[in-house]
Amino acid sequence: MHEFSLALNIVDVVTEYAVKENALEVREVEIEVGELSGVVREALEFALKSAVKGTLLEKAECHIKIIKGEVRCNQCQFEFETNNFYTECPECHSYSFEIIKGKELRVASIVIE
Ligand SMILES: [Zn+2]
Repeated sequence: MHEFSLALNIVDVVTEYAVKENALEVREVEIEVGELSGVVREALEFALKSAVKGTLLEKAECHIKIIKGEVRCNQCQFEFETNNFYTECPECHSYSFEIIKGKELRVASIVIE
């Protein structure tokens, strides 16, 4: 499962930060996931539950924030919101566009103790 390696990666990033800050445990983690990142939120939540076991994040609350997808049409440059790759441009009906926002998968904030 793709989300499981992403979850392990998140745990690594957060653990590295917590260790550097001499934290005893991590209380909260906010993760931003773009609608166009291809990450399934439920799958990531599920993966995180097992990825945090035995780490400083074990008791942390993991919040996942969804970032809306935004694209720019390659034909007419129109910018619009979408949550998938199979949308047509509302202006010129082209299916070719460039992603402006929504591909992110990152740790937005960490609360440690
Ligand atoms: Zn267009």
